[in-house]
Amino acid sequence: MDVDATVKTYYEQILQRNAGEPEFHQAVSEVLDSLTHVLRKDPHYADMGLIQRLTEPERQIIFRVPWVDDQGNVHVNRGFRVQFNSVLGPYKGGLRFHPSVNLGIIKFLGFEQIFKNSLTGLPIGGGKGGSDFDPKGRSDLEIMRFCQSFMTELGRHIGDKIDVPAGDIGVGGREIGYLFGQYRRMAGRHESGTLTGKGLQWGGSLVRTEATGYGAVYFTQEMMTARGERLHNAKVIVSGSGNVAIYAIEKAQELGATVVAFSDSSGYVTTPDGVDVELLKDIKEVRRLRVADYAKEAKGAAFHKGGNVWEVEADVALPCATQNELDGESAELLADNGVKYVAEGANMPCTHDAIRVFGKRKIDFAPGKAANAGGVATSALEMQQNASRDSWSFEYTDKRLRDIMGNIFRTTAKTAAEYGMEGDYVVGANIAGFRKVADAMAAQGVI
Ligand code: GLU
Repeated sequence: MDVDATVKTYYEQILQRNAGEPEFHQAVSEVLDSLTHVLRKDPHYADMGLIQRLTEPERQIIFRVPWVDDQGNVHVNRGFRVQFNSVLGPYKGGLRFHPSVNLGIIKFLGFEQIFKNSLTGLPIGGGKGGSDFDPKGRSDLEIMRFCQSFMTELGRHIGDKIDVPAGDIGVGGREIGYLFGQYRRMAGRHESGTLTGKGLQWGGSLVRTEATGYGAVYFTQEMMTARGERLHNAKVIVSGSGNVAIYAIEKAQELGATVVAFSDSSGYVTTPDGVDVELLKDIKEVRRLRVADYAKEAKGAAFHKGGNVWEVEADVALPCATQNELDGESAELLADNGVKYVAEGANMPCTHDAIRVFGKRKIDFAPGKAANAGGVATSALEMQQNASRDSWSFEYTDKRLRDIMGNIFRTTAKTAAEYGMEGDYVVGANIAGFRKVADAMAAQGVI
């Protein structure tokens, strides 16, 4: 088999069938690049239409979400749920509420989720959903009405053995509460395993809120240890200031690092003496303000309006905001400024160009499907607790998370080495995630 030609044909078919979805193309092309190595070694992975099936969602649901604002105006948004692959377990993945959401974005996220969820070692398939609804500036009641309308449609497609949504950008504890309330009312039963990220009093899990950020830092620690280095005393830049960023900052500082900058879409804040995490949580989670407001209240912090957070000097960079936020030029900046480790807290924040620069400039790079898998892994732990009507302690759940991140690191590193690409965590994560899903798909036949 001419592997390069075969993969090129797959990719051309995907471009044609999924026109106008650049983020989906980007996510697929990165995985296909890694799969060329697999197909050279094990050509049977091209049998039974495996790769064509893997890149075509099992089901895509698109629906109208009408809702009424506080002034009585009617708005119409679009809702999505892409149920990408359920070979390892029920579809699992978050919901994103952001004006940039479209089908291509949800497909890229759902596709990434298949491999990420496979890497966790837990029985969860891949899916993703969301809406182009913009929660910014909306009152609690508007958010509630939107969530209720969204769930009225989504509710008929989910369930603890079918599809288990959770949060993502724009969907946190408040939104999961409203979504769960409406689901419970529609279903007429308290089926807690249908959503994760729930409140602690009604089926939520300790550590779920912290898990994505903590997990990304645990993964970074593993990468550094493999090079005989430590996070202690390191300088860290974190982009973003949402749920992932806040808990990455918290854990990095708990482990003795200093977080010297973080950001939002309006600019970035420098914090040479570290971040006051309690103040940041109050600003973002309670008062729902912007990073500029943090800089006004925190000692020694400065706001850089419109600036690029990647221009700050550091040892470690954790992109925790959104897709394609770090391009080739910014990657060069990071390298010039001494950064040696980059781990993706967000989904696909680094462009292809940036990843190429990391390789060239000898920066260790952890892709999101490995580094940010702690969030969804802890969601799977929440599902386990729901299924057994139990709730675990913070310490026990955090230990499970740490063990899972350690396992993902080892599997990823070992797989890369097995293919002669030691330290290439992109190849390692893609191949390790793929093999498990592909073996299960082959075993279950052409469906
Ligand atoms: N949205 C998160 C992710 O990108 C978490 C999904 C979940 O907990 O199901 O993995």
